[in-house]
Amino acid sequence: MQRINLAYEGKAKRLYTTDDKDLLIAEFKDDLTAFNGEKKGSEIGKGALNNKISTQIFNLLSEYGIATHLVRVLSENEQLIKKVDIIPLEVVVRNIATGSLTKRLGIKDGTVLPFSLVEFYYKNDDLGDPLVNDEHCLIMGLVKSENDLNTLRKLGREINSVLVKFFEARSLKLVDFKVEFGVDKGGNILLADEISPDSCRFWDANSNEKLDKDRFRQGLGDVKVAYEEVLRRILS
Ligand code: UDP
Repeated sequence: MQRINLAYEGKAKRLYTTDDKDLLIAEFKDDLTAFNGEKKGSEIGKGALNNKISTQIFNLLSEYGIATHLVRVLSENEQLIKKVDIIPLEVVVRNIATGSLTKRLGIKDGTVLPFSLVEFYYKNDDLGDPLVNDEHCLIMGLVKSENDLNTLRKLGREINSVLVKFFEARSLKLVDFKVEFGVDKGGNILLADEISPDSCRFWDANSNEKLDKDRFRQGLGDVKVAYEEVLRRILS
C-alpha cells in the first residue's frame, strides 16, 4: 500500500490517501502533543512507540468486540486504517481525579471516583476543546442523535472496563484516557485515532510514578523510557 497525498496533518499524526479510497495511511509523528509551557517536545522514536502501543491496545479491544479503524501495521511509524469521518468530540473516561477535573471542580488530586466518569469535549483548538454536555452536542450538531451520544458513552465505558483490568494485571493504574470515534461509509461508529501514553494517564500501581505525557509536561524527564516501560508491560 503506497501513500499518495497528504490528506491531513495533526499534532501527532499525518494521514495520507492511498489507492483505495476507503483506506488511509496514518503516520505517527515524534512530536509530543502536550506542551510544557515553553516548547513543543519532540522525542525521537516516540511515534514508533505509540504506533506499537496503540496497535496492541486496538487489537485487544477488537478481541472484546469493539470495532476499530485499524486494518494493519505497515511499518514502525505507519498503520493502514479505514477512512472515517471523525466525530468532533473527545470522549474522556476517568477513574481517578486529576488534571482538568481537579482544576475545574476542586476534587482532590488522586481521589478514586465512585464510578467511572465519561465526559465529552468539543474538539476545537480555537476554543480550547471545551467541556460540552449532551444538549450542546445536539444543538451544535456534533452528533446525529442522542442515540449516538449514548453509544459513545457505552463504548467509552466498555473500553475502560477492558483496559482497567488489562493494565491492573500489569501493575498500572489507568487513571483516565481520551478516545475519538469516527463514522465509516457504512454508518458504523469505529474507535479511531490512537490510545497511547499521549492520550492516557498511567500511574505505576505501587509507586504512583507517572508513565505518560505528564512526565514531559511536568518536567519529570525520561519520557521515552516511560513509554518503553508501558510497552514492555503491555507485551508482558
Ligand atoms: N487528553 C488528550 N488530549 C487532549 C486532552 C486530554 O489525550 O486534548 C487526555 C489526557 O491525556 C488525559 C485525559 O484526556 O488522559 C483527561 O485530560 P484532562 O481533561 O485532565 O486534561 P489535561 O489535564 O490533560 O489537559
